[in-house]
Amino acid sequence: MTRSVTGVPFVDLQFVHQPIQDQIEEAVRTVLQRGDFILGQAVTEFETAFAAACGVPYGVGVACGTDAIALGLKACGIGAGDEVLVPANTFIATLIGVLHAGATPILVDCDPDTALVDLAAAERAVTPRTKAILPVHLYGQMVSPQQLLDFAETYNLTIFEDAAQAHLAEREGYKAGSVGRAAAFSFYPSKNLGAAGNGGIVVTQDEAVAQKLRSLRNYGAPQKYIHHDLGTNSRLDTMQAAILNVKLPHLADWNRQRYEAARYYDTLLQPLKEWGIEPLENRSGSGHVYHLYVIRVGELDIDRSAVADALASQGIQTGIHYPLPCHLQPAYRHLGYKAGDFPHAEMLCDRILSLPMFPGLTATEIDRVVEAIVSIFKRKLSAA
Ligand SMILES: *Cc1c(COP(=O)(O)O)cnc(C)c1O
Repeated sequence: MTRSVTGVPFVDLQFVHQPIQDQIEEAVRTVLQRGDFILGQAVTEFETAFAAACGVPYGVGVACGTDAIALGLKACGIGAGDEVLVPANTFIATLIGVLHAGATPILVDCDPDTALVDLAAAERAVTPRTKAILPVHLYGQMVSPQQLLDFAETYNLTIFEDAAQAHLAEREGYKAGSVGRAAAFSFYPSKNLGAAGNGGIVVTQDEAVAQKLRSLRNYGAPQKYIHHDLGTNSRLDTMQAAILNVKLPHLADWNRQRYEAARYYDTLLQPLKEWGIEPLENRSGSGHVYHLYVIRVGELDIDRSAVADALASQGIQTGIHYPLPCHLQPAYRHLGYKAGDFPHAEMLCDRILSLPMFPGLTATEIDRVVEAIVSIFKRKLSAA
């Protein structure tokens, strides 16, 4: 494995794949020999293992995380006429999932320090039509399970978790995917647990929801050629499940490496607070699985693009997750929101910067990233 001796990639999947390359190839060969490409043995094995890892009894594999949200909501009986509370700052797929379920998304602002949905704001958005809340465990940190459960009980709402960035995350003794009636995960290649292509799963404690999903993902037919539901074709490929079965036992270790990298970033970045550089807050200790390591930049006098450009000039890759909140996306103007509706989400979109984060990111590389940030401020101070 060779990485640049000066730059730092945003993500490098080689580190996780190289040591298990032979097992992955073997798993793929086995599927080819067996020929059970659709809903084969590896899918059932993975569904059982992943649900168990989340601490729930049922898992139903689907084609991607977006479908996991859309079909998962439908399986929970949420659809036309139902309002679903959704954070305004999330990856757009959360919103797409709600719309594909036929439900009405009601966007809610976030906590500026964690970027997680603000439950006090959610409370103000509740109406008699509100049926569910869709918390997003953004960047790898869970929304407080205790607060979610209290909120859902008060307003008699279904909790459906978007855990696409939070595989095996924990908070207050709960695991991601075990808080709500059901939860969606994605296995997009760069997620904490990624396939070699697309994949997703819904995990649930509710057998009826699992049963409904097995129908919905498979043309609405729980048994062949007898169609009970208006379903679709959205299955986790056997080949992808076989690869995920090889990777799942390593996930906790990869998450731990992400967490340790984050701790090191935290330590090195601590003195930069006076310059307006601050990591988003971790309120879940070692339960945060750091899908992304996100800092806020520019509360003082250096803006984000100056930082991102300076890092890029040294071969250090960064990202912005996400540059435009859901309510200001051109495709969703018809939802009727406008600039200013969600000030915290909008502020974060202008100030957040995601630094390199992946298992196998070295201390030397983290040193390099932080030194590059420090040098921007030093240059500025000496110029002043
Ligand atoms: C990745 C992601 C999804 C969508 O998953 P896909 O597998 O890409 O469809 C949904 N929600 C969040 C928060 C995500 O990060």
